[in-house]
Amino acid sequence: MFEKIDGLRADFEQKLKAASDARELENIRIEFLGKKGSVTDLLKGMKDLSVEEKKSFGQQVNDLKNEIGDAIAEKSACLAKAQLEREINSAPDIDLTAPAVLDRGSYHPITLVQRECEQVFRSMGFAVEDYSEIVTDYECFEALNIPKHHPARDMQDTYYLTNGQLLKSHTSAAQNAIYKKYRQALIEEGKPIKAVFPGRCFRNEATDACHENTFFQMEGVMVDKNINISNLIFFMKTMLSGVFKRDVKVRLRPGFFPFVEPGFELDISCLICGGDGCPSCKHSGWLELCPCGMIHPEVLKAGGIDPEEYTGFAFGLGLTRLAMMKYGIKDIRDLNSGNLKSLSQFTQDC
Ligand SMILES: [Zn+2]
Repeated sequence: MFEKIDGLRADFEQKLKAASDARELENIRIEFLGKKGSVTDLLKGMKDLSVEEKKSFGQQVNDLKNEIGDAIAEKSACLAKAQLEREINSAPDIDLTAPAVLDRGSYHPITLVQRECEQVFRSMGFAVEDYSEIVTDYECFEALNIPKHHPARDMQDTYYLTNGQLLKSHTSAAQNAIYKKYRQALIEEGKPIKAVFPGRCFRNEATDACHENTFFQMEGVMVDKNINISNLIFFMKTMLSGVFKRDVKVRLRPGFFPFVEPGFELDISCLICGGDGCPSCKHSGWLELCPCGMIHPEVLKAGGIDPEEYTGFAFGLGLTRLAMMKYGIKDIRDLNSGNLKSLSQFTQDC
């Protein structure tokens, strides 16, 4: 009987040594310690032993039981550790400090067009300026030869703040500040004022496929001695062919804007319908892109520049319109809709 204990121990040690995974280990545990296991069987033979022998035998079987239990637990921990090491060693190299990979966004069509325009104007020596969206009545109107109660204000109804300031209805609102910023260099050093200033503009008006209450413009001015309309046409054509990467048909029509004299409307042939007429161009084949003209003497005076000595041109390019033309966007309202499904069609990765 007693030798059976040693035999079982030897058998167990051999099998334990050979076990290579958790499943095999569990089978060994059942084989030895299970309800019908070898150790349990040993106890069944106890009835033939004397009382003294029973005591000693029971003690030894119990020790064996504990030994087997401990050995299995120890081997189990060893196997788990080895398994973890294998997984770590076989895992692909992962840099846990690398930033998370997120879905990349894309630029808005207007941003893309704005950047292209900025690039073209920069290449022609224009400075790119920024200006606030909240301006004073003086900046938006009076400095631009639009005194209070002037009927031209009717075309530019905008949103007023309780303190009398307003959301700029056109990027021209920055003109006065630009002249004041650069006039010293113009007068003392003879450096022409050449600047573009893109920005968000606001109008209080009903929206439809080609009107929005929020839109983007890019104003540009050039002031120097002997500046004339041919300079204006040259710069506008260069900019448009830069943006559209091809020659674009334009036309100048006389237009009235109080801050230019003479004033023009620069129209661009509708690129959506090719000039045949569609809702975006109000079936005319032409899109009003850019009011422009020679800067009114009163506007130069307000900016501290002598109109007898200097002349200049100004234009207010419709960036929103330009984006619609470039990407064939039929409804202006799509641009402010925040609808990524719609906008992402026209954009590119950042
Ligand atoms: Zn059209």
